[in-house]
Amino acid sequence: MRNLRVNFKSFSQIVKEFIKALGQSRTYNLSKNWHCFFGILWGLPVPFVTIGLDLYVSHLDFTLSNIIVIITAHPFHSFFILHPLLFGIVFGAMGTIRHNKEQKIRELNRLKSNFLSMVSHELRTPLTTILGYITFLRTEKVGSLNKAQKDCLEISEAEGELLNRLIEELLDLSRIESGQFRVNLEAVNINETITRAINSLRLFANDQGVSLESKLPKDLPLVLADKERIMEVIVNLIENGIKFNKRAGQVLITASYGAQDNKIIFSVSDTGIGIAQGELEKIFDSFYQVCQSRNRKYNGCGLGLAISRTILKLHRGNIWAESKAGEGSTFYFELLKYRESEL
Ligand code: ADP
Repeated sequence: MRNLRVNFKSFSQIVKEFIKALGQSRTYNLSKNWHCFFGILWGLPVPFVTIGLDLYVSHLDFTLSNIIVIITAHPFHSFFILHPLLFGIVFGAMGTIRHNKEQKIRELNRLKSNFLSMVSHELRTPLTTILGYITFLRTEKVGSLNKAQKDCLEISEAEGELLNRLIEELLDLSRIESGQFRVNLEAVNINETITRAINSLRLFANDQGVSLESKLPKDLPLVLADKERIMEVIVNLIENGIKFNKRAGQVLITASYGAQDNKIIFSVSDTGIGIAQGELEKIFDSFYQVCQSRNRKYNGCGLGLAISRTILKLHRGNIWAESKAGEGSTFYFELLKYRESEL
């Protein structure tokens, strides 16, 4: 009964949309709405077949005067003659319904992006001030502190940094959705970038009891990349490797390339909790976290990999993962070797 009501509701909704589309000029506009054109083509054989059959049965030739004779003898043919028009209108209305829906989705996405961008900007400004004052206090610029006070400020600072990161990710997402996310490609010494990323996460790895190591070829060629954006990708992958690891686990960064290839493949592998096979593609979607309740104990909101994937797309590269639940994961990403002609 409940299902019936739902179906009736959606049916009446379809009828309403159809009637609304009939009133829109787009439905009848052949140049803007190819559905209408397609409908006319679809309906065109109907009068030909029905009148043709009648001519054939009456042993008459296919001439204009015979067609007129047949139509006057059997007026129901007028209905078949209208078929191309009717199909054109029905298909045209379907095209308009589809267009209206797409426009609504575009408008909602635009509103969502504007909202994200506005909220993130509004949060960022006071947060930067708060963080500035916390650092000011913690570094004892306005008077000395005892250990307990320092500890409190350190915790506040760390939480503030996390919030800052979340806001940056939301801003990146709104830039991606509004098509304003850009990269600035140049020749990058990726060995240096990876070392910088490792150094920035060394303390976090030590805290988590995870060893952090890289095995990179010394003669790694320059890559075509946006230094800061690719640093974000590497930091995100290493941080995930540490976050979703076990105590005494390991995170290892490697790179491989063939002399003839124009790409270098990097890998960040961990010995952590792993990801089930069915989840491997979904983790690259915005806000997707394998198990939200499990993730509550880790920081993050499921945007890092989605942003990383966009960054790599803009580098004409790729990112993917292999994993076995309970045994660990390896994330791969590939970058183009730098060649001046490619800029
Ligand atoms: P975040 O880490 O902020 O939640 P990400 O986009 O970086 O967002 O990752 C999405 C989800 O993918 C994570 O929440 C986690 O469930 C899963 N994931 C990512 N990396 C790993 C990893 N190395 N090991 C296990 N799960 C991971």
